[in-house]
Amino acid sequence: MHTKTLAELAAGLKAREYSSRELVQHFLDRIDWYNGTLNAFVTVSRERALAAADAADDRLAKGEGGPLSGLPIGQKDIFCTQDIKTSCGSRMLDNFPAPYDATVVTKLQDAGTALLGKLNMDEFAMGSSNETSFYGPVKNPWDLDCVPGGSSGGSAAAVAAGLAPAATGTDTGGSIRQPAAFCGITGVKPTYGRVSRWGMIAFASSLDQGGPMARSAEDCALLLQAMAGFDARDSTSVDQPVPDYSAALNDSLEGLRIGLPSEFFSDLDQRMAAVLDAAMNEYRKLGVEFKEVSLPNIGLSVPAYYVIAPSECSSNLARYDGVRYGYRCEDPRDLEDLYMRTRGEGFGAEVKRRILIGTYALSAGYYDAYYLKAQKVRRLIADDFKQVFEDVDVILGPTTPTPAFGIGEKTGDPISMYLSDIYTIAVNLAGLPGMSIPAGFIDGKPVGLQLIGGYFGEARLLNVAHRYQQVTDWHRKIPEAFA
Ligand code: GLN
Repeated sequence: MHTKTLAELAAGLKAREYSSRELVQHFLDRIDWYNGTLNAFVTVSRERALAAADAADDRLAKGEGGPLSGLPIGQKDIFCTQDIKTSCGSRMLDNFPAPYDATVVTKLQDAGTALLGKLNMDEFAMGSSNETSFYGPVKNPWDLDCVPGGSSGGSAAAVAAGLAPAATGTDTGGSIRQPAAFCGITGVKPTYGRVSRWGMIAFASSLDQGGPMARSAEDCALLLQAMAGFDARDSTSVDQPVPDYSAALNDSLEGLRIGLPSEFFSDLDQRMAAVLDAAMNEYRKLGVEFKEVSLPNIGLSVPAYYVIAPSECSSNLARYDGVRYGYRCEDPRDLEDLYMRTRGEGFGAEVKRRILIGTYALSAGYYDAYYLKAQKVRRLIADDFKQVFEDVDVILGPTTPTPAFGIGEKTGDPISMYLSDIYTIAVNLAGLPGMSIPAGFIDGKPVGLQLIGGYFGEARLLNVAHRYQQVTDWHRKIPEAFA
């Protein structure tokens, strides 16, 4: 069961090959066997999962229920879950059972899914390797000495190893796409505003966006269908109808124009270039036309992001002060000591680094020089994409510069860590949808191909990904140790 896609598992449920309870129990057993090795789950919500399974079995017995009824999923531990610990990978929230469910959690529950548990992640989603988590690093199921990527590394590792058939992630600068690529699964970062951020713990509010992670584009379409939509409780949620993502999956790609930004290919690792070449050949057979395009300001995306994201994080994380909720230091002498020690002890090094950078960039004397300047660069990058989408329908490139790197390899050098998101960050700055699909292997480790679409172009991206997955089987590969 754990090698199947959500769509296949749903068919098995419908055909009564197994019940939802059996299915959920199977994944709970696998979590028991393998989580010690992978460290993908921070919390397992056994009772909640089995109760949802029983409810789904009742509905299925009556011939009711939708396409996700009775299917188990994992939630990144950034989404608030009522009465279940919501840690955000931080000591600061290690004692925080959220008082309510995030909109995404409610929507997926209403769709009939069973919540297996909460998935490990970089602390407050700051990282590219899952090594900043208070709960320790997650292992990459393809090579246990390597990182799974981050910040949604627990989600990616759990799906790749068959501990959950699908999961949620969040992507502020690449955190769905990069771990999906490193673990050989499919992940979608939707258009900013497509999926509600209510109850999704804030890192950088103008960039954060939740999305699905699963084996196939077909599965991502099912999940996104349930997750997307307007939410009055999120002021940046966009009130626009949600199309039927599954309906468009098989659309023809004949005559589709795909842009190849020269900046993505100029310094590309040769092995990665060969993987992309092979994928482009498949696409040509499907009738796609490629066109070289240019995103001249893309080189500024990493520096702009590392001003904007820390600035927003310094403001968002001001709420963790030891007064309201979360960690509080022992025996504070006075209010100032309470703030200082709570934050000093509750946050890890990367989070502190970002708060310091962000506070500096927003301070009166430097706001114009850094924050405002970065926002102007952000506009230039968005305009570059706008220009390119006048000539092409979709953009194709690598998701990451290399396959997964070793645990510990980049922890001493934050800049080299930041550069692992060089191909993903611009998409968040522009607010566009992007996705990563498995496209091959380098040194036995999976690598991904990135597709970027115009605003609210998720249906098109899923279609382009699905057609590729019908003629290739990279997304069906499973690491031997977890087969
Ligand atoms: N790796 C990037 C960062 O550390 C992106 C993280 C994310 O998308 N949440 O900020």
